[in-house]
Amino acid sequence: MISVFLGPPGSGKGTQAKRLSAEKKTPQLSTGDMLRSAIAAGSALGRSAQEFMSRGALVPDEVVIGLIRERTDQGDCAGGFILDGFPRTIPQAEALDALLWERHRKIDSAILFQIDDSVLVSRLTGRRTCLKCGAMYHIESMPPRQVDVCDQCGSELIQREDDREDVILKRLSVYHHQTSPLVEYYSKQGILSPVDASASPAVVFESVSQKLGFGRSA
Ligand code: ADP
Ligand code: ZN
Repeated sequence: MISVFLGPPGSGKGTQAKRLSAEKKTPQLSTGDMLRSAIAAGSALGRSAQEFMSRGALVPDEVVIGLIRERTDQGDCAGGFILDGFPRTIPQAEALDALLWERHRKIDSAILFQIDDSVLVSRLTGRRTCLKCGAMYHIESMPPRQVDVCDQCGSELIQREDDREDVILKRLSVYHHQTSPLVEYYSKQGILSPVDASASPAVVFESVSQKLGFGRSA
């Protein structure tokens, strides 16, 4: 099964994709995580991406399309995968459809994480991330057991450079202008399922599982 998680920054796509990926043994493909690893590794790709990411702009389409093309050809993706944060523009969505088509595959479902902008700013400013394992926390709603230390791997938690208020506002505007046209794109393909992303992570997990046909009773 191939699914796309679509929604604004802070809507919880990454949290849900990580949990589903772990429980359903299906890879989570996050272009944001891939780009942050490239930055941490100091590669040329990382250096060019950093400039866009730190100001909340999108990295050029051809860069992320290249990452996804390579990643989806790896063996662990044969049984399906969850796309988290990709595609983010119409050209990315078209490139994805084309590359899947060449491989006789297609997207089974696109989950839309629906939530109001007003909630997102506080979610993102309080977010802390583990650069080592990708685990995410929130200083109020999901604090780690020890301040700024990852429960999973013991590494130090950081506030992402792009989780500052001015950059968050820019990312939300980028979402509304460049990414939200994908709602209509997938809706026209008949594969869009909206979920209420303002609920608690556990409730959102239930809705997403259900939409993907992984209901508790199934
Ligand atoms: P969020 O969904 O919270 O914004 P991500 O980790 O998905 O976080 O993305 C962080 C940044 O990485 C984006 O603001 C953008 O600069 C870059 N990025 C991630 N995915 C893409 C993509 N598909 N296309 C272009 N840029 C991307
Ligand atoms: Zn960690």
